[in-house]
Amino acid sequence: MAFQLESRIPSGPLEQKWENARRDMKLVSPANRRKYTIIVVGSGLAGASAAATLGELGYNVRCFCFQDSPRRAHSIAAQGGINAAKNYQNDGDSVYRLFYDTIKGGDFRSREANVYRLAEVSLNIIDQCVAQGVPFAREYGGTLANRSFGGAQVSRTFYARGQTGQQLLLGAYQALERQVDAGRVQMFARHEMLDLVVIDGRARGIITRNLVTGAIDCHVADAVVLATGGYGNVFYLSTNAKGSNATAIWRAYKRGAGFGNPCFTQIHPTCIPQTGDYQSKLTLMSESLRNDGRIWVPKKKGDTRNPNDIPEEERDYYLERMYPAYGNLCPRDIASRAAKLMCDQGYGVGPGGRGVYLDFREAIQRLGRKTIEERYGNLFEMYERITGEDPYTVPMRIYPAVHYTMGGLWVDYHLQSTIPGLFVLGEANFSDHGANRLGASALMQGLADGYFIIPYTMGHFLAQVKPGGVDESHPEFRAAREQVTGRTKKLLSIRGKKTVDDFHRELGKIMWEYCGMARNAAGLKHALKKIPELREEFWQNVNVPGSGDEMNQSLEKAGRVADFLELGELMCLDALEREESCGGHFREEHQTEEGEAKRDDERFCHVAVWEYAGENRPPVRNVEPLNFEFVHLAQRSYK
Ligand SMILES: Cc1cc2nc3c(=O)[nH]c(=O)nc-3n(C[C@H](O)[C@H](O)[C@H](O)COP(=O)(O)OP(=O)(O)OC[C@H]3O[C@@H](n4cnc5c(N)ncnc54)[C@H](O)[C@@H]3O)c2cc1C
Repeated sequence: MAFQLESRIPSGPLEQKWENARRDMKLVSPANRRKYTIIVVGSGLAGASAAATLGELGYNVRCFCFQDSPRRAHSIAAQGGINAAKNYQNDGDSVYRLFYDTIKGGDFRSREANVYRLAEVSLNIIDQCVAQGVPFAREYGGTLANRSFGGAQVSRTFYARGQTGQQLLLGAYQALERQVDAGRVQMFARHEMLDLVVIDGRARGIITRNLVTGAIDCHVADAVVLATGGYGNVFYLSTNAKGSNATAIWRAYKRGAGFGNPCFTQIHPTCIPQTGDYQSKLTLMSESLRNDGRIWVPKKKGDTRNPNDIPEEERDYYLERMYPAYGNLCPRDIASRAAKLMCDQGYGVGPGGRGVYLDFREAIQRLGRKTIEERYGNLFEMYERITGEDPYTVPMRIYPAVHYTMGGLWVDYHLQSTIPGLFVLGEANFSDHGANRLGASALMQGLADGYFIIPYTMGHFLAQVKPGGVDESHPEFRAAREQVTGRTKKLLSIRGKKTVDDFHRELGKIMWEYCGMARNAAGLKHALKKIPELREEFWQNVNVPGSGDEMNQSLEKAGRVADFLELGELMCLDALEREESCGGHFREEHQTEEGEAKRDDERFCHVAVWEYAGENRPPVRNVEPLNFEFVHLAQRSYK
């Protein structure tokens, strides 16, 4: 059955849509709020901000995460900053400009109304975080400092050295702990959601595994919020925290939640190049470095001279040459593809020629080492620890890597999925970034969703349903719990010859090779043959040691990789069906003569929303057309 994709975009002028929506939304009176229970899965920036805000409003909140503390969510890794259209510098910024940059950056594949609301709410986020004590960098006179990020010609990125995510998370965590202390939020650390329970078409709870004791439990609620992050780890090597996974959204997909644009993956241009086959993770060098670092390759192919011995006239600052208006600050998809092009043509540097230089020599000469140290000191230190090279004296070597997923569960303007009562926030949903996310916009979106959108839309939903009505003895809860127990037992019973990591690494290679920075029909078809074969082998030959009644990280990983083996296939299918290039999705068959992405607005100006059709049946592709009422669809140019 095809989905009814009702986006619930409010009517009226762009600037008034959110105000109108809030005016029309129903409210739950303060005395009634305590009668409702809300489950929030995830305690990163999106989840912690949502749980704290809903707790503060007076709802009973149960918040889950798989780490030992909410403070360890992947959000902590974010380095560079968070966008907001405050226009402190008077450099021409405005809510409209942030909105427009985001729509254009996403290659016109996101909803106008959502993106405008995001830009609008960005102003409140900064005030809220400052009030919480987040130590943003400041100018001499005390005003908050800003820097620029890719895809923007203004400085609108607020930052706390190279630790912005960590500082924002500490702010949200304190707000969350305050609610825990007040008894409004009950925290379940080291609990992994392994299934969603849907009763009479509505999300009514989750099944979890206690990762310390192995206990499998039911949790009932009036509504469920997933804020479980992105699925970039499907590629095995990525800049994501090792534990990031897709299980929560994948289980929800299998229970009826639509999956939006699964193939939209972001490749980040400034990562430390891979060093070997047995590496488990890639390290990001923040995009903020592109403010002062200049990217170049030698003009001569295969030039192995020390970079400091290569004179100025023999260097190709290719981004500045190709994109003079934005130069080193062009968006991530553009900068990544340009680096790949340089390396493919033989100009790459470092082992295997898979690297380009990010050089601070000129900035250090101009601004002095101390300023550079103040701006990026911890990133430079991290680079030196990993590579053994001192970036103050030798240019950094960087190469693109998988970083972020723009795809995720489809949500309407209220952030509700296709399952009533199931809301999805932050990187776990598909919204707002289109086919490419601009730097510093993920933190903005996660906090906008959690602090400023869900409190209204959740109230509107709950005001229309009675609290309670089901408990753990409901047959759907019992059935879901049995399925989870059965799956866990099955994973433990195979006792094959290959480790979970072996399978994950193989899947990652297929994904990177055929569904990575560039894709084509032949490669995607090949991947669609290989992934099911690998999945079949996994269920015959994986070795999961230990038992299910204890802490067992191999078992945790096995469940997550089993889901990646299914999601990877959907990503390839989605990439194959989208016969155009847009943002992070570059189909080699669809490019301009200059090698730029070529969209097909006639056929693909829509969100692809995949619907699970049952075991061994092909999923159904639905579409939500994107209507551009306020901006003109234009060829994206950063020249
Ligand atoms: C290295 C790096 C640097 C970045 N820098 C920036 C930046 O400078 N600016 C920017 O805007 N963005 C940046 N990003 C992107 C940004 O960090 C993420 O998109 C964002 O933090 C995601 O937040 P989230 O709350 O949606 O999810 P996460 O922070 O990933 O949190 C997910 C939560 O869900 C929980 N969870 C997941 N699955 C389950 C489950 N099944 N059961 C129970 N709990 C579960 C986890 O325990 C965790 O609490 C960066 C990303 C990386 C990788």
